[in-house]
Amino acid sequence: MNKIKNVVNEELIFDILEKYKNPSKDTVINILNKGLKKKGLSIEEVGILLNTEDISLIQKMFQTSKQIKKEIYGERIVFFAPLYLSNYCINDCEYCGFHIRNSEKRKKLSLKEVEEQVKILIGMGHKRLLLEFGEHPEINNINYVIDVIKTVYNTKLNNNKIRRVNVNIAATSIENYKKLKCANIGTYQLFQETYHKKTYEYLHKGPKSDYERQLFAHDRAIKAGIDDVGLGVLYGLYNYKFDTLALVSHSKYLEKKYGIGPHTISVPRFQPAPTVDLKLNYTINEFQLLKIISIIRIAIPYTGMIITTREKPELRAKAFEIGVSQTSAASVTSPGGYGKEKMLQQFFLQDNRNVDEVMNSILQQNLIPSFCTACYRTNRTGKTIMKLLKSGKIHELCRPNAILTFKEYLEDYASTKVKKLGIKVINKYLKKIFNKKIKNETLHRLKRIENSERDLYF
Ligand code: SAM
Ligand code: SF4
Repeated sequence: MNKIKNVVNEELIFDILEKYKNPSKDTVINILNKGLKKKGLSIEEVGILLNTEDISLIQKMFQTSKQIKKEIYGERIVFFAPLYLSNYCINDCEYCGFHIRNSEKRKKLSLKEVEEQVKILIGMGHKRLLLEFGEHPEINNINYVIDVIKTVYNTKLNNNKIRRVNVNIAATSIENYKKLKCANIGTYQLFQETYHKKTYEYLHKGPKSDYERQLFAHDRAIKAGIDDVGLGVLYGLYNYKFDTLALVSHSKYLEKKYGIGPHTISVPRFQPAPTVDLKLNYTINEFQLLKIISIIRIAIPYTGMIITTREKPELRAKAFEIGVSQTSAASVTSPGGYGKEKMLQQFFLQDNRNVDEVMNSILQQNLIPSFCTACYRTNRTGKTIMKLLKSGKIHELCRPNAILTFKEYLEDYASTKVKKLGIKVINKYLKKIFNKKIKNETLHRLKRIENSERDLYF
């Protein structure tokens, strides 16, 4: 139990939320001003922001996180797509369409089918994937996972391929994480779903019901050498203030213990799912989700934040402004679902636009889509990337890399409309590359991309 307390101290979290109810305007403004220094916030300060209900103060919060986001991540939104490999699962998670009680036919992709799906995803313009598996120690064993990763990296379509594979598999052993590391994964992502132990145990049956196994999975992954790990809460399962404070607490624990916080934080909200009939007492509305995003951005400024196609386009657009740095587009949540009739889905999605439509709306926001995978391929991971982020030097690399990878998208996949707008936005941000040498090299590389060269990065 003490071990758990080092990560999430439930009593302390409840105490903080109780103690700092109805914070004064001055207290909140002081915290927001501290946030602008981009050094993060204490747990107490995060509790105070979570307890802030005054709409005008929450609007100030949004302005603060918007500024922090702009300073650290600039205009870039990084894109990925989920790829579901198998919906065989031995767990009974109350919220998930793949729960073991669901008697619909299951599907596990053969390696040939993996190749087909990956070709479809490459053909949509994607360069990074997040692999998703149900938990099944036999059917979805680690050897299958590794074979899938190898197949993804080896699949080519014309001049293009997937350049970064992130993985979301059930909590596992150090030995298995070492295998993932050897297979060259980018981020290992795993959500705690809810940090509230009693609720967690109530909502899960099967091996995933082991709260500690889930909570310390990232520790094991880091010990196995994976230094980019992703955390998340499934909002709706328990009180959002508790879970957000616990998430920040988990993040601080990792940073203190290993010198690296999480690479990403995800903020999924529960969505309706086939055969799931869960009565939720803690659903959060769109404004509360934006408040959470804003607080996380201020509290943990240097961690990437992910919003997926679970959410509507309009909400996603607001999230990009005030904190989110990574997103998915044109996703499906069933194995083999790309380009085919959707089989058993994990849950239903609220953004069903194609990639080109999503690109268009990002450009309309004056943001630039990035398909960059350079950091992980040049070993800028873990502590190295954090150092670069904190020095502000990352813009010198990320801005050109976003421009170059988006230029590839424009050359290979964009509609005429997106191409026209895309070039305008690229030209705007080329002006913001202030290092002359890098700017000239970027211009040169843009020409090389027009001449069919690919995968040029800093
Ligand atoms: N089986 C692995 C696991 O449970 O960690 C892989 C993850 S699962 C494919 C990805 C995530 O989807 C889960 O961690 C959960 O948070 C989320 N999820 C499950 N059911 C959902 C629902 N109904 N609405 C939104 N997200 C859901
Ligand atoms: Fe299985 Fe993951 Fe769904 Fe739980 S959330 S039923 S472990 S796929």
